[in-house]
Formats: sequence, structure tokens, C-alpha cells
Amino acid sequence: MSVFGESAHHDVAAYALGVLDLEDVQGFELHLAACAQCRVELEELRELPGLLDEVKSESHRTRQ
Ligand SMILES: [Zn+2]
Repeated sequence: MSVFGESAHHDVAAYALGVLDLEDVQGFELHLAACAQCRVELEELRELPGLLDEVKSESHRTRQ
């Protein structure tokens, strides 16, 4: 079964950065539950110091 297939792997960074659409977040979380590779990658991305917080507040600012 590969509803999200290979392309879901590429969403790890976008998911970690919080830039996915709600629909894509839900799809990716389903993929994440079944994909150890992406869980490891997500952990690594989350360890990037300060980067994620900055990007998040930046995208919030531009949307308002
Ligand atoms: Zn994956």
C-alpha cells in the first residue's frame, strides 16, 4: 500500500517547518506512523537549533 508513496518522504522538512497545508499534515502524519525513516529524519530536523522557531514565527507574521 502506497497512498502517499515516495512523495510523502519529501514532506518531512516541510512538516517540521510547519508549512504544510492541514490536509498534507494529516496525510503526512499517517505516513509518519508507518515510516521509521521519516520519524528519524524528523527528529534530526527538530534538533536544528532555533531554526524552526524562527521560520514559524516568520510565516505567522507574513500571514497576518
Ligand atoms: Zn517516509
